Amino acid sequence: MIQTVNSAEIAQKSLAGEALSRGEALAVLELPDEQLPGLIAAVYPIRKKYKGTTVGIQILTNARSGNCSQNCAYCAQARDSEADIAKYRLVPYEKLRGDGLIAKEKNLARHCIGLSGIRFTDKEIREFAGYVRELKKEARTHICCSIGFLTPAQAQTLKDAGVNRINHNLNTSRNFYPAICTTHSYDERIANIKMLQGLGFEICCGGIIGMGETAADAADMLFEIREINPQSVPVNFLIPIAGTGLANMDTSRLTPEYCLKVLCLARLLLPQKDIRCTAGRELYLKGREKEMLMIADSIFASGYLTAGGQSIDDAVKLVTGAGFEYRIE
Ligand code: SF4
Repeated sequence: MIQTVNSAEIAQKSLAGEALSRGEALAVLELPDEQLPGLIAAVYPIRKKYKGTTVGIQILTNARSGNCSQNCAYCAQARDSEADIAKYRLVPYEKLRGDGLIAKEKNLARHCIGLSGIRFTDKEIREFAGYVRELKKEARTHICCSIGFLTPAQAQTLKDAGVNRINHNLNTSRNFYPAICTTHSYDERIANIKMLQGLGFEICCGGIIGMGETAADAADMLFEIREINPQSVPVNFLIPIAGTGLANMDTSRLTPEYCLKVLCLARLLLPQKDIRCTAGRELYLKGREKEMLMIADSIFASGYLTAGGQSIDDAVKLVTGAGFEYRIE
């Protein structure tokens, strides 16, 4: 039986640095929709205390696309995916430079760079590190990379080149993970993150909601992420992509209300972190952006790895139109 929850009480608990109980977390996700305004009103002071009224906007460059050996069911770049996407090895430096200069010119918070694949040769890492070094000189943005599993030596090479943060998502709960990927384990992901933290990297770690997991799985994932203690937490809502293992996933659960409750739970469990509302926001939270920004403090613009998204200028308008400022770092 789902327990009921008092929004004001759990918000106080979160502000005091206490974790919600698992029952309280589940109750947040199962809250009757008519109580959502009260939940958001209780969560907003937490967002305001730690993040003010600013919103970080990031852009993402897909620096290496497709041809991955892994079978993550949601991913257009996966081994078994028949999605119609561009496939390429490392992009020419000019592409990264162009995106880096856009991030700088528009005063965006961060430039995120994704590379498909799970393992890299030392030569590939050295080549990419060379790009990062140039980019740091020219664009001087904060750089975050999403780059599979690294050896400690490879990670150090990237750190020395100037990578500030690494994104490595847990994606879902430990319990549900085998349903979405069997070519590597949840524990391998956690071990990679711990190794990176040991080297002093900032960590971005989040997941994807709407892959067929239960609300309990979504809550468990957020508890695992709380244990990891990352700097930022991207919360994606599944965009089913034709040709992928989840192409026909029923996304009817992803109502705006449910998506907002997931964001509330992320804020309650990880009050001081950057909560990024990422892929799917344009699809599932259209018209609910003000509520979204009362909880989350960061968004992506210019699309995702293999899916389109809102332009930077439109994202800036969205943020300022909702009464928030966008963050300059
Ligand atoms: S999510 Fe990453 S590891 Fe998984 S298939 Fe896609 S590119 Fe490969």
